[in-house]
Order: sequence, then structure tokens, then C-alpha cells
Amino acid sequence: MTTVAQRVAEVRQRIAAACRRSGRDVSEVRLVAVSKTQPAAAVAEALAAGVDAIGENRVQEAAAKRPLLPPDPPWHLIGPLQQNKARLALGVFDVIETVDRPAIADRLESLLAAEQRVLPVLVEVNVGGEPQKSGVAPADTLALVEHLLQRCPHLRLEGLMTVPPYQVDPERSRPFFAALRSLGERVAAATGVGRLELSMGMSEDFEVAIEEGATWVRLGRVIFGERRTPPPPPHPPATVLV
Ligand SMILES: *Cc1c(COP(=O)(O)O)cnc(C)c1O
Repeated sequence: MTTVAQRVAEVRQRIAAACRRSGRDVSEVRLVAVSKTQPAAAVAEALAAGVDAIGENRVQEAAAKRPLLPPDPPWHLIGPLQQNKARLALGVFDVIETVDRPAIADRLESLLAAEQRVLPVLVEVNVGGEPQKSGVAPADTLALVEHLLQRCPHLRLEGLMTVPPYQVDPERSRPFFAALRSLGERVAAATGVGRLELSMGMSEDFEVAIEEGATWVRLGRVIFGERRTPPPPPHPPATVLV
């Protein structure tokens, strides 16, 4: 049986190979192990194998698991955040990758200001413009970043994150990854913030994402195997059919 440790080692080799192909230094790419639906014991194996961060997409699931595990490394929220979960999210996560609208930024800002705590965040961009997905539209990204910089001193902008439209062939994700990189360059130039992290690439397409500049890859199944339960839908249905 393949262990989590073996899978992490294989993934590190694939990350290194993708870095070599694109002339990048492997130290530029951080591995976020996405442990949604996985039990705390599996997360503990990934921690022992030396992943750089843990990613979870549901606040309550992470809140239940994290107390069972050692404090390091940082935990990233990678799923959508509702206003009413913001306080709980701040108690669980070290990084929020999914800031996608001024209202959620303002909510986090007021909670963080009260704690005198600064939180690293990413702005999630809906690069494919898919109506069912969260993320700010590419055209509105600069305005949201300016909102963070001007109005949210307790949110430290670290970069941009995206989940591009699903493709069977990972090569077809390449233009979306390239689009996030160029958006990041434009935002950095327009605002004067330094280099921005790019959180992009999942199990099926992380090598393409690295070739296009990813600095954080979010990997679930390639590390933990298939999920234990079906992942929740990204958004609850708008109406309940009876
Ligand atoms: C589940 C998830 C991942 C990991 O997906 P895999 O295909 O299992 O690697 C990455 N990012 C987000 C936002 C996710 O929800």
C-alpha cells in the first residue's frame, strides 16, 4: 500500500521536475496538502512527511480536526467564507486564501483589529468567469486589492488564488494559470505591492501551474488518495425541492 509519506515524496519529485523544466528554483514552490474529508490521522502523516501547509475548504471541519494535531505548519482556508463563519475561521486558520469581496474583507478587518492581529490573505479570482464559482472577477480584482490596501490594515495581501474551470486535459488549464500570473503582475505594478504569491494548481494540473508561475500548489487526492466522502457542493442549492 502506498503511504502518504511515499506520495508526498513522489509529489516533491514532480514539483522539482516541473521547476527544472521552467527554469525555476524549487524553493519558490510551497506544497499545501488539502485534507478535506480526510481524518486527523491522515493529516498527521502528511505533517510528518513535511508538507508546508494544510488546506481545508470547510471552516467547521477544520475546527474539529486542528485541535487534534500539532500547531505547525500553518492552516489555509481554501473554500468560500461566509460572514457568519468569519470569527470561527479566524480561530482556526493562519491564512485565508479566499477573500473575494469587500464585505468579507471588512468583516475580517473588524474582527482582526479588535484582536490587534494581522492575517495573511489571498484574493480569490474567478479566472474562468464561471457563474457558479466564488472569486472576484478579473476586471474587479484591482479594485478589491486597493480596498484591502487602503481600508484593511489588518489584512496582509500575500497574493492571488484561483480554481480554473475543470478540464480533462490539464494543458487546457494553462491559459487560465497564465491569466492569473499576468493579472498578478498588473496588480503589483498598479499598486506597488511587492511580488505576489500565486496559489494555483491541484492534483490533475499542478505541474502545468508550476510552469506558469504557481508558488503555492494545493494538492489533495495526489497526497491522500480519493476523498473519504463526496466533497460538499461549492454552493448550496438556491431552492429546496420538496
Ligand atoms: C479540494 C480542493 C483542492 C485539492 O483538490 P485535489 O484535486 O484533490 O488535488 C484544491 N483547491 C481547492 C480550492 C479545493 O477545494
